[in-house]
Amino acid sequence: MLKTISGFDRIGEENAFAVLARATQLASEGRDIINLGIGQPDFQTPEHIVEAAIKALKDGHHGYTPATGILPLREAVCADLSKRVGFSPSPDNVLIVPGGKVTMFMAILMFGEPGTEILYPDPGFPIYRSMIEFTGAKPIPVPIREENDFAFSAEETLNLITENTRLLILNSPANPTGGVTPRSEIEKLVKGLEAHPNVAILSDEIYAQMTYDGTEHVSLASFEEVRERLILLDGWSKTYAMTGWRMGYSLWPDQLIDKARKLAVNAWSCVNAPAQFAGLAALTGPQQPVVDMVTEFDARRKLVVDGLNYLPNMTCRTPLGAFYAFPNIKTTGWKAKPLASALLEKAGVAVIGGPDFGTLGEGYIRLSYANSQENIERALVRIREFLEGTST
Ligand code: PLP
Repeated sequence: MLKTISGFDRIGEENAFAVLARATQLASEGRDIINLGIGQPDFQTPEHIVEAAIKALKDGHHGYTPATGILPLREAVCADLSKRVGFSPSPDNVLIVPGGKVTMFMAILMFGEPGTEILYPDPGFPIYRSMIEFTGAKPIPVPIREENDFAFSAEETLNLITENTRLLILNSPANPTGGVTPRSEIEKLVKGLEAHPNVAILSDEIYAQMTYDGTEHVSLASFEEVRERLILLDGWSKTYAMTGWRMGYSLWPDQLIDKARKLAVNAWSCVNAPAQFAGLAALTGPQQPVVDMVTEFDARRKLVVDGLNYLPNMTCRTPLGAFYAFPNIKTTGWKAKPLASALLEKAGVAVIGGPDFGTLGEGYIRLSYANSQENIERALVRIREFLEGTST
């Protein structure tokens, strides 16, 4: 019997991938499955980005790059942040990583160990808690509440900080709720954090460019007060429909960047070279494809929210960001995971049960509206027929 470290007794995973596997299996058996489960844009990567990767390969970019990423790409990240956030960091603080997830892996590994506490959103992206548990740190859930439109509460967050807190994880716009934390709450949080100078912040802003109804995305990087302890997580996956390219970046403060670089050198040496050239084309090329994609998501958002609110015993707040709806199913009589499972098996609609995102996710399901309007309409009909035809 091989003896691995105890973290493997606690590590979790992402159930969205298990749901995707089951949905794919059912489809291969001939079932008509509508997938509102997985969180990835259903669009192709824009052509000019694909062409840039092909060109990089033809131009001979086949070797290692610097561990932190090619300089023009890090400069383009800084220019993009300067334009969007109004803060122009040094390219020396940017690390190109293989996907957005890698930054949370590194940050949690950097701060988590037994005896420490890490605050994370609940419901929230499941990997936060999984990795915290893996390191042996104590996971402290920050409740994300429907009555706050799924925004962080600064007061509630600050009240959870203790002398053992090492890292605070924030996510806005948020998965799985679509919640966007407003400026007033972020300002309160930044102000309150002055009293806790030893707490690092990981701000997951992977959905930064997906907000609706004129909603402002407020980046933590726009606050000078916290920059020397802020790790910013972003990447290409969602904004440019590039989930399979595995392209992400993080911004690290001076006191952490070399540690992050060393982790990169130890783990992956550098990110795939042609993918980095594709990332460069994405940032420096036309942004109209992003605008078009977000416009289409907006139309689907309205469709899905209106449709869910029309269903028996479901209510759905209007999400202001990302591409998820998180309806309240508490009065359907169903628990969330059995409902998600029954919807897939009986109605052929893949959704994710709220508890897969944390204990406060009970009573909710997540629908990703990264699917066509036609399929969303068909899925809503199926859910309605299923709910009307069943009782628990
Ligand atoms: N952060 C959040 C909140 C996400 O929802 C996701 C993906 O679903 C990620 C990070 C990871 O993105 P990537 O696919 O680039 O690793």
